[in-house]
Amino acid sequence: MLELGFGGNIQRVLALGAHADDIEIGCGATLMQMLRSHSGISVYWAVMSAHGARVAEAQSSAETMLSNAAESSIDIASFRDGFFPYEGEAIKEHFERIKSVYQPDLIFTHYGRDAHQDHRVVSELTWNTFRDHLILEYEIPKYDGDLGTPTVFVAIEQSIAKRKPEHLLEHFPTQRTKSWFTDDLFLALMRLRGMECNSSSKYAEAFYSRKLVVQPAPECSEVGAELSPAE
Ligand SMILES: [Zn+2]
Repeated sequence: MLELGFGGNIQRVLALGAHADDIEIGCGATLMQMLRSHSGISVYWAVMSAHGARVAEAQSSAETMLSNAAESSIDIASFRDGFFPYEGEAIKEHFERIKSVYQPDLIFTHYGRDAHQDHRVVSELTWNTFRDHLILEYEIPKYDGDLGTPTVFVAIEQSIAKRKPEHLLEHFPTQRTKSWFTDDLFLALMRLRGMECNSSSKYAEAFYSRKLVVQPAPECSEVGAELSPAE
């Protein structure tokens, strides 16, 4: 299948996650690969809810993940875990603050049909706040069983695919008691998605795209420039 690359167009990435480890689980390998392959990428890393020991875990994990970034901002908020639908106004204001200080080329956020209510709120507010942006929605495996049929695949090098579960287990010791938080689960999902996109490395992370604008030829950029931005 013809592969579309970001090329050098992605310089500024916004990674949004409801909870301390969501970004790493959903798009950690893709981010690691992007940051390893391209120098000069800046990342704004926003976690909406972390409390107690999970604040330090989130901070340490993000710092390690972003060690190759040209610039990085780590923003860890403390909205109430499990109650995002009832704190919508305050979370929306937080999104607006992020938008006022950071203009991303690419946004990673939660899948819009995720079974977790906090994840769905983050996904909805992403689209509500960033209306003219490239957005990829990542998946989080969970007890509730909400895995679907993603539409965008990023083949992941074997070394990074193996590093992702190691990173998660190293940086989130409070989660190791959960039966699902294991290296084989994280690797298995990447292996499954790798099979679905025929990845030569065997591994991939997968995303959902609600809207993707493809430029068929360089001259089309002039046509696009004449169009009004989305209101
Ligand atoms: Zn979560």
